[in-house]
Parts: sequence; structure tokens; C-alpha cells
Amino acid sequence: MEKTSSSQHRGVLIDNTWMTGAGESFDVSNPVTGGLIALVKSASTEQVDAAARAAQRAFSDWRQTAPVERGALLRRIAEQVEGQRARLVALQQLNSGKPGIEAGLDVSDVVATFNYYADLCESGDGLLPQSVALPDDGFCATLERVPVGVVGLIVPWNFPMVTTSWKLAPALAAGCTVVLKPSELTPLAEIALMEVILEAGLPAGVVNLVYGAAAVGQAVVQHKAVAKVSFTGSNATGQRILQSCAPRMQRVSLELGGKSSLLVLDDADLDKSIELAVAGAFFNAGQMCSATSRVSVARSLYARFIDGFVAVAKGLRHSDPLDEDTTLGPIISHKQQQMVMSRIQSGVTDGARLLTGGAAIAGLGGYAIAPTIFTHAEHSPALWQDEIFGPVACVRSIDSDEEAIAVANDSDYGLVATIVSGDVERARHVAGALDVGTVWINTPQLIFPQTGWGGFKHSGLGRELGPWGLQAFQELRHTVLKTTMESL
Ligand code: NAD
Repeated sequence: MEKTSSSQHRGVLIDNTWMTGAGESFDVSNPVTGGLIALVKSASTEQVDAAARAAQRAFSDWRQTAPVERGALLRRIAEQVEGQRARLVALQQLNSGKPGIEAGLDVSDVVATFNYYADLCESGDGLLPQSVALPDDGFCATLERVPVGVVGLIVPWNFPMVTTSWKLAPALAAGCTVVLKPSELTPLAEIALMEVILEAGLPAGVVNLVYGAAAVGQAVVQHKAVAKVSFTGSNATGQRILQSCAPRMQRVSLELGGKSSLLVLDDADLDKSIELAVAGAFFNAGQMCSATSRVSVARSLYARFIDGFVAVAKGLRHSDPLDEDTTLGPIISHKQQQMVMSRIQSGVTDGARLLTGGAAIAGLGGYAIAPTIFTHAEHSPALWQDEIFGPVACVRSIDSDEEAIAVANDSDYGLVATIVSGDVERARHVAGALDVGTVWINTPQLIFPQTGWGGFKHSGLGRELGPWGLQAFQELRHTVLKTTMESL
């Protein structure tokens, strides 16, 4: 077993006490080598129940704290995370195989998210009662934003710590208490993050963690103390969760999949377009809901774009993530690797043209796949339309902005798009016609906590980050009263 440096084997946190799970045991692997790095036991149903009850007990006090007090805690968490950067980066690399730059960006994102919600708490924006203007002087009205209660946060494996923070920071800011379930594949950085958070002085029961797989997630969703579920992951699981929440009208936010477009217009800078195509398709080995895996390029640039895109993709290097030359991480697990490979094979069988990649990288024994580029994906609707969640891009040509828009919108999903153009007004015009939650123009996939995150159509329900991320953990209460007794 490769060595780990944390007490991450204790996968259950209840009332600020770490304990070993009483459920089944999971092997946690390093996806770069396939080697076993930890054994972590999942929470039992009884432990999930105890975690939800702890959160319920803690809620009555936590909801009464002043927003500035919660803000101070969030600020301390951001500082602690920054202080523990090296440890968190190392665990992210060990458990997810991310190159150093990617693991470092994840930690920066966590810090920025906690700082952003600390700012909101300190300013009181979206947290303090507000008067509501009425058309009749005889009445006045107040709006209060009330924490929704105990929330179940269920997160996937592709950005451990990041998706957690996008939910945890606003939930705490709103005054909610939490049962968090990280992915069974990536517990190490998540457990370490929770240890760091505890050092910031979190009251007992405010955040509880239950490690495990689908059964533990289901137990969280079905617990009667859980008023709201916030989930990131696959559409199939999202739909299941939505159905589970229907009978008790539990609130639900879903951040699901995508099949997003990079649109290269005919006035685009070619080098910039290639750079954005590589990052959009191969960052995190393509395991991103926001991967721009459908690339539509103006016909006049198409041939040169293909040459450049393939050349850069071939130059990406998969190795030990501690090696600074590493620019491509692995697929998270053998199962996911097989799934991505079967989709590549189907594309080839359907008649799409494979330009590069299409094979597993033997490398250090883990689960990497070579960056893969197809053209002629019109022969394979599955390749063009379905989320693959691996380093696989399909490229086609377009003849007009109208065609670019139509191609991008021809998807069940609607998460993001990237546009590359020399004319910002033209790009804005195209952006305005896209059915997606975020459009980047001539920009890499930067996600600021100030901007919302989420999608149209099958990409989910609701928005994370920004004030919308906070609202997702609040109910609204209006109070209306007469101001003059004589008008009674
Ligand atoms: P998943 O949806 O099965 O798992 C995501 C999280 O939900 C994990 O914590 C998992 O343990 C939990 N979970 C699974 N079943 C559950 C249930 N019935 N009730 C409650 N919680 C449950 O995703 P996965 O198996 O890890 O990955 C499968 C596919 O999902 C990927 O290939 C990819 O297409 C997609 N995915 C999307 C995202 C995203 O950011 N949109 C992230 C990860 C995976």
C-alpha cells in the first residue's frame, strides 16, 4: 500500500468526533498507479441517522448566530485551508492523480469560495431582513431569509473539495447545518478538508460527514431530518434523487452533466482557439461537467485548427503528477476508464474518424487515456450527443454564426459554451442566443464565486455560487402589518 499522511481512514464525523464507519469497506486507489492507498469503511445506516440527528440538534443554535459570526468562521476556514495548501494539494494529487497546477487551482477555488461567502455574511447581503416597498402607506412588509434546515450535500469525485465548498460555504452562511457525503472514490482530500474546517472552530454537529457510496447517499436523501438535498453528479442519480425527494417535498438542487461546445468563429485567433480547445477538452482528463467536448470551427480555419489541436494533444504528458512536466491526469478508476474506452470504441465502430489517442496509456499502471480527437462524429450520434467524461473531443466545421448557434443548442444539456472571436460584439451576439448557464468569450474556464454556476435543460436545477448559491439554502418569509390602528 502506498503511504498516506493523514488520518483519513476514519470516514465518519458526527458531533465533531471522528469515528470508523460501521458499514462496508472500500479500497481507495491512486489512479496514476492503480495502487491501493487506503481502506475506508463507509457509514452504516445508523451512523447516517446519528449524523442527521446531530445536524438537527445543532440547527436550533446555529440558525440563531449572527451572519457576521458565521462570516468570521468562514473566513477562518479560508485561512486554515490556505495554511494547509501543501497537504491538501498532495492528497488531491495522491487520490485523484491531478497534475500540480490542477490540484493547486482546486485549493485556490476552495479558499475563494469560503472568502466570498464570508464577505456576504459580513455585509449581510441576502441575509439580513429587508423592508419591502408597498403601494399603500397603511401597511409595511418585511422579507426574512430563513435557513432551510438540515441539508444533505452529495458530491462526486471529479473535483473533490471544490464541489463540496460550493455547497458547504453557502449552506453555512445561510445558517443551515450539514450532512456531507463525499464520493466513495475520493475521500482523502475531502476528509482532510473537514479536519481543516474543524480546526477553524466549528460548533459540534454543524457539519457531519458520512463516507460511502450510493446506499449512504440514499440514506441521507431519505432521512426525515434532511430538508434539502444539493447534489452534483450524473443525470441518472440526479433523477433518482429528485424522485426520492418528491413525496416529502424536500428541496433539491441538481448540478448534472453537460455536452458543451467550443465555437471558433472565422475571425478567431488560431493559437488562442487551440489553447482553449485543449484546456476545455483535456483539463482534469476531460472529467468535467463543463468539458467543451464538441468543437465547432469555422470552415476557413478548420484544417489548420485540426493540425494544431492534434499536435498539442499529442504533446500532453501523463506521468507521476509530482513530476512538473505532467500535463495530463488519469481517469479516476478502472471502471470509468473502461466506460470511456467503450464510448471511444463505439464512435470508431459507428464510423467517426479517430485522429489521435483512442487508447489507454499503460504508463505507471493506472487508468490514463491518451487525449482523443475525432472528426466526422455526425456518424456517431452517441459520440456527439452523450457526455463521455474523459479526454475525448469531437471536431466539426461550421459555415456561419447561425450554424454555430444551432449546433451548440442541439443538445439535451445546457451547461456552458466557449466562443473564440476577434470581435467581442459578434461573440456577445452569439452568446445571447445560447441556451447555457455560462458563456466564456476568449477566456479559459474561469469560475469566479461571484458568478452563478448551473445549467439549462438536463444540466440541472438551480444555481450554485454567487447570491444564488446562498438562496438555494434559504426559505423566504414575508411579514405584512398595518401601520395605522385607525385603518383597522
Ligand atoms: P454518480 O452520480 O453515481 O455519483 C455522484 C455521487 O452520488 C457520489 O457521491 C455517489 O456515491 C452518490 N450516489 C450515487 N448513487 C446515489 C443515490 N442513488 N442516492 C444518493 N447518492 C448517490 O456519479 P459517478 O458514478 O461517480 O459517475 C458516473 C457518471 O456521472 C460519470 O461518468 C459522469 O458522466 C457523471 N458525473 C458527472 C459529474 C458532474 O459534475 N456533473 C460528476 C461526476 C460524475
